[in-house]
Amino acid sequence: MKWEAVIGLEAHVQLSTETKLFSRASTTFGDEANTNVNLVDCGLPGVLPTVNKNAFYKAVKFGLAIDASINKVSIFDRKNYFYPDLPKGYQITQMEKPILEGGSIEINIDGLKRKINITRAHLEEDAGKSIHEGFKGTGIDLNRSGTPLLEIVSEPELRSSQEAVAYMKELHKIVTFLDVSDGEMSQGSLRCDANVSIRQKGETELGTRTEIKNINSFKFIEKAIEYEIKRQIAVLESKEKVEQETRLYDSIKNETRPMRSKEFANDYRYFPEPDLLPVVITDKEINDIKKHFPEMPKEKSIRYVQEFGISESDSSIISNSKNLSNFFEDCIKIVNDKVLLAKILVGDISSLLNKDAKEITDTNFTPENITQLINLISDGTISGKIAKDVLDQIRLKNIEPYEYIKEKGLTQISDEDAIERIILEILAKNPEQVEAYNNGKDKLFGFFVGQVMKATQGKANPKSVNLILKKALSNKHT
Ligand code: ADP
Ligand code: MG
Repeated sequence: MKWEAVIGLEAHVQLSTETKLFSRASTTFGDEANTNVNLVDCGLPGVLPTVNKNAFYKAVKFGLAIDASINKVSIFDRKNYFYPDLPKGYQITQMEKPILEGGSIEINIDGLKRKINITRAHLEEDAGKSIHEGFKGTGIDLNRSGTPLLEIVSEPELRSSQEAVAYMKELHKIVTFLDVSDGEMSQGSLRCDANVSIRQKGETELGTRTEIKNINSFKFIEKAIEYEIKRQIAVLESKEKVEQETRLYDSIKNETRPMRSKEFANDYRYFPEPDLLPVVITDKEINDIKKHFPEMPKEKSIRYVQEFGISESDSSIISNSKNLSNFFEDCIKIVNDKVLLAKILVGDISSLLNKDAKEITDTNFTPENITQLINLISDGTISGKIAKDVLDQIRLKNIEPYEYIKEKGLTQISDEDAIERIILEILAKNPEQVEAYNNGKDKLFGFFVGQVMKATQGKANPKSVNLILKKALSNKHT
């Protein structure tokens, strides 16, 4: 049988506001437990929430970017359930009238583009966190409690784990470029619940779905969905039924496990939040947001090619990452060779970032030291080979390129007389190879280049070496 997967994602984006959705406590990540909590966040009786307008503006900004329709009046509801990390006994969310409806996100897999429709996006507050390590029993940290989230719900239109990952990457790109969220997945700023079902190809009705909760890395999204698709196929092929249930992904065992089934599904008893008025957004506010809309990756990519003459593929890679494009734009003002800058960012630097699984902002690379390095290459002071070494030294020891090459004497030898002297010495030392070369063994050219580089510790300017070596060898011939 030919199966087809159907996936819909509910993504949670933590909005990068200074303070919480309904209180003035800070949203800073990683502070000591329960230090960013005020009376509203710990749900004391009698306290009243006040809406953080900035969270609304960020949601509207996102809505404009995905072409959603913006509800100028949106309403908060209470979603009632009990959990230790939810002291109020309910979460304030938007049910009937969310801030955003509709819109779409375009994914691109190997050049194949597809639009994924968005059902809705609503504002809600995050819960706190249970802590099981470090002491006997379980502790509760309410620092997160009340942090603003935008929940973005997709239509069930994704067809593979790869598409789900592409969708989440695109979402990550949009929210980081808009400065709607810091997008830090390891800190929970972007996570998703994946709804997965399968059906036979050609079937139009949806199959029974399961929902995998709270996945917080691209890799886990791919693996969890892959596992779940295979599991459901196996269930259906053995003529059993898929249970509609919530499941957890265990990244260590690489499997999904049931968390709660529909029979135990919560009845949330939604009702309109009586402590908050409907929130109104005016046309003027929306227009102000439009006026200050940031430059997005597509526009950046075109501009980089036109303004700086860098290649389209380098430009698209740089402009697709907020961190890389910020870095590039900081360097571009002071660097001599803009094309070389782009090449090194996309080439050597990106591969070091991949190797360390780091963003450029978490490394020793700075616009200052990289600009210094590029300028040293482009004015001929150091060779490309030495540049790689310098990059690695920045990465590991945070050296300053200019001082490092001076101290280690790594300046490229471009003095042609000096290079010629070295070449003649090497040819004199290797008469047999010279003869073999002259008898047609062309490959030996590389051997001579290698010897020159060895003698100069990689510092000879490769262009000059090639020219002078050719000349010297042909002189020997005649
Ligand atoms: P709930 O609020 O109970 O989680 P929704 O109907 O709002 O349920 O759907 C939530 C998510 O599940 C949406 O992203 C939607 O696209 C997706 N979804 C719904 N039905 C299916 C299905 N049969 N297979 C896969 N995904 C589904
Ligand atoms: Mg759900």
